[in-house]
Amino acid sequence: MKTVLLHDNYGINEEGHFTVCGYDTVKLAKEYGTPLYLLDADKVRKMAGIYTECAKKYFKNAKILFASKALSFKKIYKLAESAGLCADTVSPGEIYTALEAGFDPKKIYFHGNNKTYEEIEYALSNGIGYFVADNEVEIENIEAACVKLSKKADVILRVTPGIDPHTHEKIATGKVDSKFGVAIETGQAMEFVRRTLSKKNITLCGIHCHVGSQSFDPQPFLDAADIMMKFIYDVKKECGYTLEILNLGGGFGVRYLPEQTNLDIEYMLKEISARIKANCEKYGIDEPEVCFEPGRSIVAAAGVTLYTVGNVKTITGYKSYISIDGGMADNPRYALYKAPYYCLIADKADKDMDFRADVAGRCCESGDLIQENVFIQKPDIGDVLAVCVTGAYNYSMSSNYNRLCKPALVMLSKDKVEIGVKRETFEDLVRNDE
Ligand SMILES: *Cc1c(COP(=O)(O)O)cnc(C)c1O
Repeated sequence: MKTVLLHDNYGINEEGHFTVCGYDTVKLAKEYGTPLYLLDADKVRKMAGIYTECAKKYFKNAKILFASKALSFKKIYKLAESAGLCADTVSPGEIYTALEAGFDPKKIYFHGNNKTYEEIEYALSNGIGYFVADNEVEIENIEAACVKLSKKADVILRVTPGIDPHTHEKIATGKVDSKFGVAIETGQAMEFVRRTLSKKNITLCGIHCHVGSQSFDPQPFLDAADIMMKFIYDVKKECGYTLEILNLGGGFGVRYLPEQTNLDIEYMLKEISARIKANCEKYGIDEPEVCFEPGRSIVAAAGVTLYTVGNVKTITGYKSYISIDGGMADNPRYALYKAPYYCLIADKADKDMDFRADVAGRCCESGDLIQENVFIQKPDIGDVLAVCVTGAYNYSMSSNYNRLCKPALVMLSKDKVEIGVKRETFEDLVRNDE
């Protein structure tokens, strides 16, 4: 088997080395050390551009929000804003990071299923654009914070349309029994609307749903659009109130493995647009402002993580392990839910992948694996092992388990290489220890 280049920003150069954004990853590993997160900023811009162009082309009025839980550090907010994106945040820490980067607070949406009163005050006093309220307690707290701070809040309500997107359980979030939002089916969402409308300092702007993650099929979004548009119609009929924003969440799929295809984002948005327009006609309502919240599909392919191979252990008659200098602390996704990744030896990217092994991390847990039973080039000690498509939910999910320092994150563009996040030091590890 030959190396499959999963995305158009990956390549193999004349030396047979794996490249990202045209840069030799073996050289980058030498220069910046490993483990190392690479982020191809040009690829991020390109993906953002596909979304914003389609938003313009297919909708009367649409906004693309970068779901920053996928990847959060100062420069990514700058990049997102300059690419025309708003930011979806889920904690005051993400809001703080965005604001520190100079992100326009009005373009920030604050999500989360259990925002505390203090967090709501923090967001309100910093002038964020919208709260996406998950439940009625939040509505009470937002109103109370508005009264205290003499402010008004624009609110979008998170509802659950009751869709099982046939994806992995742990990342399926649009079902009726989800921990997120309020169900339409049970009548509770309509109550949620009435309660919100009764608040003096809250403007109810729209509704939100998120039907899952890693979807390659427009169907869950089309089903969601049908249910959400009917709900908009029902609210108009029962409350005489027009919801102006329809936020359909994120969850667009990304190619992690050779057997998967690249998602045609334009096709997805075109189909969703047609379905929304059909519903507008059916119910005699105006086309709402439509929001999407892609996270993974904006940054995943832009990311590659580089490690150094420390040893190769073959247990005669059983299996082989390739041990790397990172693992679940910088990428916990295989340990958490067996997320698939494509690994290759960057120094030997042009060679056959004929060695079967588990890629093992360095943490003191037998479950600290990046991948099991994969075919890869047989490495020499000291080679660079690249894990592809790690731009989303890797750095943002990283930890200091085993007191490991978090890797540096280097941003690549055709015209420059810059540090996005510095490598942590031992001093960083003990900074808050008394
Ligand atoms: C996680 C999440 C997203 C982003 O999902 P991706 O799969 O990264 O596109 C968007 N909206 C909400 C509410 C989410 O929870």
